[in-house]
Amino acid sequence: MLSAMKLMLTFFLSGIIACYGDNPNYDSIHKLLLVSFDGFRADYLKNYRLPHLQEFIEDGVLVEYVTNAFITKTFPNHYSIVTGLYEESHGIVSNEMYDKDTKKKFSQFNDKDPFWWNEATPIWITNQQQENRRSAAAMWPGTDVKINNTLSHFFMKYNYSVTFEERMESITMWLNNSNPPVTFATLYWEEPDASGHKYGPGNKENMRKVLEQVDNHIGSLIYKLKRLGLWENINVIITSDHGMTQCSPEKLIILDNCIGRGNYTLVDQTPVAAILPRNNKTYVYNLLKNCSTFMKVYLKEEIPNRFHYHHNKRIQPIILVADEGWTIVQNGSLTKLGDHGYDNALPSMHPFLAAHGPAFRKGYKKKTINNVDIYPMMCHILGLKPQPNNGTFSNTKCLLVDQWCINLPESIGIVIGVLLVLTTLTCLIIIMRNRISSPRPFSRLQLQEDDDPLIG
Ligand SMILES: [Zn+2]
Repeated sequence: MLSAMKLMLTFFLSGIIACYGDNPNYDSIHKLLLVSFDGFRADYLKNYRLPHLQEFIEDGVLVEYVTNAFITKTFPNHYSIVTGLYEESHGIVSNEMYDKDTKKKFSQFNDKDPFWWNEATPIWITNQQQENRRSAAAMWPGTDVKINNTLSHFFMKYNYSVTFEERMESITMWLNNSNPPVTFATLYWEEPDASGHKYGPGNKENMRKVLEQVDNHIGSLIYKLKRLGLWENINVIITSDHGMTQCSPEKLIILDNCIGRGNYTLVDQTPVAAILPRNNKTYVYNLLKNCSTFMKVYLKEEIPNRFHYHHNKRIQPIILVADEGWTIVQNGSLTKLGDHGYDNALPSMHPFLAAHGPAFRKGYKKKTINNVDIYPMMCHILGLKPQPNNGTFSNTKCLLVDQWCINLPESIGIVIGVLLVLTTLTCLIIIMRNRISSPRPFSRLQLQEDDDPLIG
């Protein structure tokens, strides 16, 4: 019986240890570098050769796809990653916004007014509110804006013509030299998004070229961190804001064919267009509703709950959501062969996440998390108390060495295994008992009368 219990215990422990990891000496105040390669669609990892990134993953963790926030555009999702909030809660609801009360406008080229960013507190600020810590940023959206009256201690003014090498040099220098220490840093790069828009993700040859460059950037970042002696002690997260899908000149939804421009203001463009009606909202809605079978038209109050895209006054009274690959224009032709912004349930809109460092397990793969889950995980790594957020820390526990982690398939496997062992043992015990408790009674061998005795 003792050996049976021993066996069961081994069974249980092996499952738990497999999930628990192998680094008990993890210090919770390690540095963290968060890197985004804009528009890095999750399946690029499977379809292209990316040796540096693959090596990074083999020694760290991979989340195969990340469910990002709707709408799947750049500014909103970068802010979701660093705040753990859906777009309706952090207030950056698109790349193009309009505020009716103040008449203010926001765009990628006019994004410096703190007004737009102040509805949330990003992690680089929370990190600096802890004693003796600094943050550094190389062009992550919002890091050159004074949010809630605070700037990242080190930052670069956004300028797309600054090379990856220059951004990398600055961020690694800040991570290495400053006193008090930089514990949180961010690095942003515009590719493969720019090429995805220009050529479309279906253009394998051009995407191969740009992804090779991105992979080389990852290689040089790792090399630089190793050379500075930072590699073993720093946690690095490589992720992205959204994916990319192929567009086509045959898939155009032309608003001018359905409604006169005088009836509305087009606040945000394709593939999720934000419509501000000039006078009669119902009239505008009815005209748009029947415009195309390849576009969903929602009044603000009808937007599906799963989008978490409703409770903010910057979300306009009507939004149009194009089907995958379709482009909404007022008139004219297609300008981008690839685009994003579509429904966040579409696999083509999902980015990936990979991470490496003392906080992370080695060689672990997980199917999915939400991008709002990244924030509580980063706060945990940095030992920060998170601001209120929409993320779920337990979704990321299996990625971390210092967390207990039993995921569902493993738990079911363990339970079935234990039941099988118990059943086998019970059967064995019953058989053994029957043998011991009912011995065959001794009986003398009787010779029949007609048998010939062997010895006469
Ligand atoms: Zn883009």
